[in-house]
Amino acid sequence: MTLRIGVLGLFRPRRLIVKAGRIRAGAEPLAAPQVELSIENSAVVCQAGTRRMAVPAVSAEDGVRLEIPGRIERAYAGAVTISAAGEELMAVVELPLETAVASAVAAEAPQAPEEALKAQAVVARSYYTATAARHGNFDFCDTTHCQFVRETPPAESAAMRAAMATRGLVLRYEERPFGAMFFRSCGGRTLTAEDVKLDPSQYPYFAVECPGCRSNPSRWEARVTRLEAARLPSENARLHLGRKYGWNRIASSDFGRSEDGDHVILRGVGEGHGLGLCQRGAAAMARSGKGYAAILAHYFPHSTLSGWRSR
Ligand SMILES: [Zn+2]
Ligand SMILES: [Zn+2]
Repeated sequence: MTLRIGVLGLFRPRRLIVKAGRIRAGAEPLAAPQVELSIENSAVVCQAGTRRMAVPAVSAEDGVRLEIPGRIERAYAGAVTISAAGEELMAVVELPLETAVASAVAAEAPQAPEEALKAQAVVARSYYTATAARHGNFDFCDTTHCQFVRETPPAESAAMRAAMATRGLVLRYEERPFGAMFFRSCGGRTLTAEDVKLDPSQYPYFAVECPGCRSNPSRWEARVTRLEAARLPSENARLHLGRKYGWNRIASSDFGRSEDGDHVILRGVGEGHGLGLCQRGAAAMARSGKGYAAILAHYFPHSTLSGWRSR
């Protein structure tokens, strides 16, 4: 299984330097190890040395590095195709499933202990295999809208080892794989899909105790209008307020309220939607000697663990 992941779209690139062992402009292989792409009248313009050509797309493979000049440079262990999307360049990386899983683990849980990384790998794989493509021109993006991905981690990295150690395994509920969710930390208890008004049909999620967070949760406070408060807790309303005021403002759906004139003060605990795997709690379980299967069984009650191809 190969995933098509749209990368760097957050930067809305109009210029991109591509370095790779093999580069093609349209169908033509180029001798240059590096080209500079720009966009003109919704077409990709490829500058290779002194040559300059407009092409529908540029493809690269073999140690690809993409650079947005002055902003960011990232390496990908997969073939990359760059085409025009309106007046922006759109880069799509083709990654084998396990490479995509390792990339997500490296980006989403960089510091976690080994068994927590393995649990995160199963969650990432469950999401990728059970979720239908979420974008028109590719399957998933590289932001938290889908699953956060930066670079492809090296073969000897902890993230790649976690992917390989759990290779192919996904979570199922009533036999069917589901797009398992995770979040950063809770207030000592996770939430159900119903608690945050999300669709419970794939997996309803179950509220479970999280001792790792119970004793020392991260706390936050926010002041919102009565109208905004009336829409909470709802994950969609929380994301809406995040877009409006900044992502950390309503950090979670686990909070109490107090009146303050025509506003409402929310005091909450935890970070994230509260559904499924609590990353902080998983790390605490791993440090206390629990394996990834026990961690997953705790945060995803009534689920089973099996190969995504089976049945
Ligand atoms: Zn997305
Ligand atoms: Zn927790």
